[in-house]
Amino acid sequence: MFEAARARMVRDQLVSRGIRDARVLAALGKVPRQEFVPKALQAEAYQDGPLPIGHGQTISQPYVVAFMTEALVLRPRDRVLEVGTGSGYQAAVLAGLVAEVFSIELVEPLAHRAEADLRRLGYGNVKVRAGDGYRGWPEAAPFDAILVTCAPDEVPEALVEQLKLGGRMIVPVGSQGAPQELILLRKQPGRLERQAVLPVRFVPMVKGD
Ligand code: SAH
Repeated sequence: MFEAARARMVRDQLVSRGIRDARVLAALGKVPRQEFVPKALQAEAYQDGPLPIGHGQTISQPYVVAFMTEALVLRPRDRVLEVGTGSGYQAAVLAGLVAEVFSIELVEPLAHRAEADLRRLGYGNVKVRAGDGYRGWPEAAPFDAILVTCAPDEVPEALVEQLKLGGRMIVPVGSQGAPQELILLRKQPGRLERQAVLPVRFVPMVKGD
């Protein structure tokens, strides 16, 4: 039942809206999204939208997960940082595409649950940490790519620093309550290329202490 729903999701929500990267489509076609949502919502896991996962947070819409993942043009040997682990779903999608995933989540119980779910499902190349994403993960830096799934007012400086030269970052930027844009950044010698690619709505990136 879930397999058929997942195949439909890939066709009707991703391919039909222009997601083309075969590796990205295969990754979303494989990750059991129903395992990352509350039991009571499992039947809705493959619907075309975000779903609540507790603690006021949500698992992102499949299309947005696919769009952000595709924009990073990931290679199998890459090491990727995710900020905002949430359910762990996006981390699981990344895990199928790259060598190593590092994911930070501010809300401790969410971090612990995602870590346990990822382990249970066999995603051995994902490390989850409870902490403040504004600081990044300096011990594991630099990263080939960074994916942020909560919205800061501005691109956090520490994350730019922890990106490799030539590396890409995708991050929803916008003040609280204001419209947000997904910004795609590319770190070049001496400058940061910056492009707005999609209007979006993410939960705010909360300042830790
Ligand atoms: N990628 C997730 C969706 C996450 S929703 C998934 O696939 O399910 C955004 C998450 O960012 C929330 O869980 C929220 O708690 C977290 N978050 C908010 N501010 C943060 C911060 N400063 N550092 C790390 N995580 C943060």
